[in-house]
Amino acid sequence: MLYKSTRDSSLRLTSAEAIIKGISDEGGLFVPESIPQMSLDTIVSLGDKTYPERAAEIFKLFLDDMTDAEIRYCTDNAYSEKNFDHASVTELAELFEGTYVLELWHGPTCAFKDMALQILPYLLTTSMKKLGVDKKVVILVATSGDTGKAALEGFADVEGTSIMVFYPVDGVSAMQKKQMTTQSGKNVSVCAVKGNFDDCQNGVKAIFTDEAIKEKLSAKGRVFSSANSINWGRLAPQIIYYISAYADLVKNGSIKAGDPVNICVPTGNFGNILAAFYAKRMGLPVNKLICASNSNNVLTDFLTTGVYDRNRDFYTTVSPSMDILISSNLERLLYILTDGNDALIREWFGSLASKGRYEVNEDVKKKLSEEFAAGFADDEACKAEIKKVYDKYSYTLDTHTAVAVKVYEDYKTRTGDETRTIIASTASPYKFGTAVLEAITGSAPEDEFEKVDKLFEVSSFPVPASLAALKTKAVRFDKTVDRAEMADFVLETVEKI
Ligand SMILES: *Cc1c(COP(=O)(O)O)cnc(C)c1O
Repeated sequence: MLYKSTRDSSLRLTSAEAIIKGISDEGGLFVPESIPQMSLDTIVSLGDKTYPERAAEIFKLFLDDMTDAEIRYCTDNAYSEKNFDHASVTELAELFEGTYVLELWHGPTCAFKDMALQILPYLLTTSMKKLGVDKKVVILVATSGDTGKAALEGFADVEGTSIMVFYPVDGVSAMQKKQMTTQSGKNVSVCAVKGNFDDCQNGVKAIFTDEAIKEKLSAKGRVFSSANSINWGRLAPQIIYYISAYADLVKNGSIKAGDPVNICVPTGNFGNILAAFYAKRMGLPVNKLICASNSNNVLTDFLTTGVYDRNRDFYTTVSPSMDILISSNLERLLYILTDGNDALIREWFGSLASKGRYEVNEDVKKKLSEEFAAGFADDEACKAEIKKVYDKYSYTLDTHTAVAVKVYEDYKTRTGDETRTIIASTASPYKFGTAVLEAITGSAPEDEFEKVDKLFEVSSFPVPASLAALKTKAVRFDKTVDRAEMADFVLETVEKI
């Protein structure tokens, strides 16, 4: 299995090379040259395996330059009980008849990003060993809140790596900020940026593709890589839990092998839902992929009209991890839907960079409407949904998952589609306590840790130990820079960590 770039189909890299590089030199994203297939029997047989075993089976298909032993080393360490508070790693809760919430937040930072970022450091360091890379890898991360902490937690004190995280100064929740700025580890650094997530992401992308900076780093024996979902090593682990959840539903008798399911995903950078799309193309019986957005509904418009237009107001919402107007992973989807037409991708994404807009052709529009449904929920609708689900089903949703549940219910009413549905639950409600408590009880205490206590009273979920421990941790990182100063920050910090 080799990897090519969405902007240069002639490239061929091994998975180890693609994971180390993160993003291709000409700005494209790495994609497998073909999508491996899994038979229904194989999918169903996963039901009898542990999560690390399931993960290894699926990784083998994508990372065939690694040995079985290397893959098992990665999956056993990443998905151990040391890191996840559930032996099954993820948990499937039936919210109401035929609708299942796939809880992906039982890892150390209480968001689904852990599913990929606990394993990425193992995949990366294993890849480096394989290729004999003796440079230190510098991981640059742009975050809307959850990726940053999950990446810090994954890479802290990992030999041969260092990590720098940039977050929008006013764009993350108080708990997310506290999680990041108190991070321990000798090889970590965190910096706020005056701007929004797109500014952070564009800043990081510009540094990655800046030859002068790369040369300076190389002279110091260092090389950049990415822990954002532009890295294939982030995306591949997310395919696993959809296939795994399906196997569980068959095993517990909720569905019969071969029954189709819908998958609904609260979406920002389009990584999580793209992983569900890959699962479908691998053979998972999926009917519709339902893309849920908040008020930053650029994807709702795109999936319904074929026009991607980021020239619009940006909203800071109660679901900050979805406050994104440039969804990077859409590039991978469009590459697949155009059968690998790199010229078209260069044209569309060139237009996005210069005009902030592109329109796909009729063929792609047709495919998008066959595979996807889309909708959005604003903050008011999101909070109303949290309250409704709490009152009706005694289940406490976080603000991101609530957007997805609302969009799914709207979809079901609109279409009458009764297909059983898996809704990706991307964060613990404890991470977004203010909005969740306001929705349920009408108000929230000021203090972050009083919020935690209050949420414990309200929800039936145990307090995540990692969040409780933050109370006594000191802030280590309090620097804020302009977008234009990000490169200087990187060059200065690289000397120190
Ligand atoms: C990152 C994140 C999302 C969005 O996921 P994408 O892969 O970027 O689409 C949704 N919810 C939460 C809680 C997240 O952390």
